[in-house]
Amino acid sequence: MPGEAFDDMLRAASELRPLGIDAVFTRLGENVTDAAEASAVTRHYLEVLDAIAAKGIRCEPSIKLTQLGLDLGEEHAYANLRALAERSHATGNYLWVDMEQSSYVDVTLDLTRRLKAEFPRVGVCLQAYLYRTKNDLPALVEQGIGVRLVKGAYKEPPEVAYPKKADVDGNFFALAVAMLEGLGRKSGFRPVFGTHDLALIDRIRAHAERAGLAARDIEVHMLYGIQRAEQGRLVKDGAIVRVLIAYGAYWFPWYMRRLAERPANVWFVVRSVFTG
Ligand SMILES: Cc1cc2nc3c(=O)[nH]c(=O)nc-3n(C[C@H](O)[C@H](O)[C@H](O)COP(=O)(O)OP(=O)(O)OC[C@H]3O[C@@H](n4cnc5c(N)ncnc54)[C@H](O)[C@@H]3O)c2cc1C
Repeated sequence: MPGEAFDDMLRAASELRPLGIDAVFTRLGENVTDAAEASAVTRHYLEVLDAIAAKGIRCEPSIKLTQLGLDLGEEHAYANLRALAERSHATGNYLWVDMEQSSYVDVTLDLTRRLKAEFPRVGVCLQAYLYRTKNDLPALVEQGIGVRLVKGAYKEPPEVAYPKKADVDGNFFALAVAMLEGLGRKSGFRPVFGTHDLALIDRIRAHAERAGLAARDIEVHMLYGIQRAEQGRLVKDGAIVRVLIAYGAYWFPWYMRRLAERPANVWFVVRSVFTG
């Protein structure tokens, strides 16, 4: 994290631009169960969208529906999400919806599809560890909803998710191939790969080259501060790179929860200190 305040995020995003890297931003937080707090989060994002437009920074929001009050009811979250999509659209931005635990996948996809019926530049995160993702993907491609494919960060039971890393990686590649096949469709589908797995990225890029796609057809999103050298190399090779910048005072509980859910995440953070 570049800092707790959204000004820190904006500063970090503007510093990335000369390197040819754009940003995605998110304010840490999840599972808001108080309506006033969900409204405050929404107002905050509206303010940031305006600041980004005023400063001409290339920075796309990525939002968790539980932060907008999903646990208070679907319509509650949708009203807040819609307000963000409206402002995002008015300021020429693109709105990403994060994917949370597997129990939220149906509602997240439903609300994203609803949003897409009204606003053109909308995308959602899909998780390669879920068995269902291969069935969720085709409809999103057809509807031109952007997909940011990630491995998946939550602890999920083997009934819904591949328990073995090798299977998650294999599924990620298969889904990436299907996503690249969706490029060039009239729907305007936007495929994005959200990973730091260099071997996987190279494999996807090699496949894209064999399929006759351009280097610019590969868009990779990574976390701020991780794999910096690799981000630069990808830009040099012609790929599109965005970096997800998180900010907010909620970082400590958020981080502890990530660790509790998936202890492997500690290595992810520790290693980045030395290799990022
Ligand atoms: C932009 C973005 C958005 C995301 N959004 C969501 C979301 O909405 N929902 C969700 O469930 N998850 C999300 N995630 C998290 C994601 O699911 C993974 O938990 C996280 O990205 C780690 O997986 P990985 O694909 O990078 O590779 P891993 O399998 O964790 O690591 C693969 C390889 O990458 C390299 N690597 C990993 N970490 C580091 C490091 N710190 N420093 C150097 N090399 C490293 C190593 O070589 C490692 O072997 C998001 C991730 C990103 C980058």
